[in-house]
Amino acid sequence: MRTAKAIAAAHRRLVETRGIRDVKIMGFCGTHEWTITHYGLRSLMPRGVELVAGPGCPVCITPGYYVEVAVKLAMEGVTVYTYGDAYRLPSGRPRGSGVRSLAEARAQGGRVEIVYSVLDAVRRARERGGDSVFFAVGFETTAPSTAAAILRGRVPENMSFLVVHRLTPPIMRYVFKIHGERSPIRGVIAPGHVSTIIGASAWRFVAEEYGVPVVVAGFEPLDVMLAVLEIIRMLVEGRPRLVNEYTRAVTWEGNPEAKRMMRECFDVVDAAWRGIGFVPESGLALKEKYKRYDALHQYGIPDLTPETFKYDLPPGCRCAEVTLGIAKPTDCPLFMKACTPSNPYGPCMVGSEGTCLIWAKYGGYIEELLKSEIGEEA
Ligand code: SF4
Repeated sequence: MRTAKAIAAAHRRLVETRGIRDVKIMGFCGTHEWTITHYGLRSLMPRGVELVAGPGCPVCITPGYYVEVAVKLAMEGVTVYTYGDAYRLPSGRPRGSGVRSLAEARAQGGRVEIVYSVLDAVRRARERGGDSVFFAVGFETTAPSTAAAILRGRVPENMSFLVVHRLTPPIMRYVFKIHGERSPIRGVIAPGHVSTIIGASAWRFVAEEYGVPVVVAGFEPLDVMLAVLEIIRMLVEGRPRLVNEYTRAVTWEGNPEAKRMMRECFDVVDAAWRGIGFVPESGLALKEKYKRYDALHQYGIPDLTPETFKYDLPPGCRCAEVTLGIAKPTDCPLFMKACTPSNPYGPCMVGSEGTCLIWAKYGGYIEELLKSEIGEEA
């Protein structure tokens, strides 16, 4: 605590003496948002520096279309294996208009099982037989395990994959594009987990192309506090660059074997992000030679295209703005009213890395309420 206070004091000194103001620092990753909110780090930020959440929740950004596909397969007797986070993920359907999630599908007799890993799914599919599909969501952190299962020949004949893996650097570029030339995002805390795979150097473009300081950081509160200090220092010096604060886990190159497997198994393609649309070169699709593992191909289901993509958030949900750092959960009129952790309406209230769920569970909104009720001094 003493160290955190000392770092916070250093933040304040730099900001006050150098006149830094209106700075938003984006914590890309949902786990960083958890650390920030759970430990109340926003309350330690100096005036003029705001921490905003980013698009780093893989469940939140999984398009509703693929939830619909998974639900359809489960209801038709295919066993759908899913990570727990995606189990309650709602599709874009409004409430009361049919089965909206794998959890609801299971409640209505659909075949859905929660697994901890792709290997768990492979083992169960082999042991139990019957048509099986693994709902392969996630960023560069989970894509290598999907690739490894396929490349190492462990997947039984009765199993295929609904691949919705997404890549993180392209969506960061999209965030800058959306915010435009006068982007208030003046610093980025890059994701630690993802960087163990892709390497810290994958984030160099943030500093070099957008002139924004970027720090790859770990997930302890002090990691985040130090990352913010580095970013403020770089802003004061006017020298944006890439810093790797998480050297105990992240190298500049990342994990060469994991990257090789992803390259071997997948093509990089333009891909849909929930509520956002298609983002160039931001997704992974199985290569032609591995098409037999593709559940869409296997069951004759068309993939999404820019032409068939429909806005896929339920009416009124502002999840896309939350993930792009444009809005806070408290800007959504449904937050903690029609949308709560026990009765989620939009995707950001479902995944453990969803900003709305984190704010709801750990009081991220309390500070905002205090501000609006008793003024900025709160
Ligand atoms: S509170 Fe619920 S409805 Fe509102 S943006 Fe968050 S997930 Fe969507």
